[in-house]
Amino acid sequence: MNGIYLDYNATTPVDPLVLKEMLPYFTEHFGNAASASHQFGWAAESALKKSRQRIAHFLNCKDQEIYFTSGATESNNTVIFGLIAQIKFENKSSSQNSKPHIITTNIEHDSVINPLLELEKNNEIELSIAECDQNGLVSAQKIEALIKPNTILISVIWVQNEIGTIQPIYDIGQVARKHKIYFHSDATQAMGKIQINLQSIPVDMLSASGHKMYAPKGIGFLFLRSQNPKVQIKTLLWGGGQEKALRSGTVNVPGAVAIGKAAELCSEKFIADSEHIKKLRDHMWTELKKIFPNILLNGSINDSAYNVLNFSLPGIQQEKILPGLSRLGISTGSACHSGAWTHSRILQAIGRTEEQSKTSFRISLGRPTTAIEISEAIEIIKKSCLLP
Ligand code: PMP
Repeated sequence: MNGIYLDYNATTPVDPLVLKEMLPYFTEHFGNAASASHQFGWAAESALKKSRQRIAHFLNCKDQEIYFTSGATESNNTVIFGLIAQIKFENKSSSQNSKPHIITTNIEHDSVINPLLELEKNNEIELSIAECDQNGLVSAQKIEALIKPNTILISVIWVQNEIGTIQPIYDIGQVARKHKIYFHSDATQAMGKIQINLQSIPVDMLSASGHKMYAPKGIGFLFLRSQNPKVQIKTLLWGGGQEKALRSGTVNVPGAVAIGKAAELCSEKFIADSEHIKKLRDHMWTELKKIFPNILLNGSINDSAYNVLNFSLPGIQQEKILPGLSRLGISTGSACHSGAWTHSRILQAIGRTEEQSKTSFRISLGRPTTAIEISEAIEIIKKSCLLP
């Protein structure tokens, strides 16, 4: 393919070092990690152990606090439905005579907001949705104001996938701690973009996905704090009791090996990646502002992940210029919404009109992005948009 890929928030390629490390687990070391009676199983189990250790080292948590899943959608659903199942099991809500209350934001990924809306629709929870400001940021004060005696969970995305804004997770975590409420963060887009230290950040549950951090699709993990507080949630998948019975099902060993190596690389390459990518992103923004004086930034340059640029080009129709941009792998809204045009829920949340949303583009850079690609991309955008 001779295109220029600038959609790393949709998915990343597998890093060659990650691929190298996972390949033997398809062939040579193909054992089932649950086969406890022979060396083939032991080899697989020891690979899982190593991967958990690498992730734990990356996040500064304990390796037994990491559970492998199929991705962030599963991790997010496990937190939400697992906690509700646990509450029902403990019969807490009936003794309080009220439904459990959950607080989230209006800029969550579908895999958080949709399960919550479903539970609300089925009358199983009370839901409060904190609104972000016009820069796409939610404040800890707004979250705190929504707390009720029956609040059991606060769930806030760490880095917003469409506009890249970084939420004040430390402050929100402090609020959650003060009120003794579980705090979950969907950190899918934060991996490798923010340095996360789970010893100092009061997050109790955290979701991540391999294919946003240079590992393959179909693997992810969930962090559940084991002490202060000890998170207790019910499993959604009953079966062989893998992953300490939280997530039954044969573990995807090559995937787990991959996400462990990917975590190690995110840590090792953090400074190099952030400097290199931020420089290219900032250069692109400077150049685009020169070409399109009325360009509108969606989000916040200062409070966003270093790799994302989401902007609207007033007066330019997306449909008209997209053919000219076909060499560029960029997104119009989030990847999940590409194809069928709908007014992006996230752009609506920051107050963009339908018209502004229609002319919006999300460019997300990644580890392999080069200065040449960025210069070419700027030229392509300029030519396609300024066509008569
Ligand atoms: N959360 C966020 C913030 C995401 O960007 C995505 C992927 N678009 C997901 C969750 C879902 O991840 P997965 O593809 O691993 O299910």
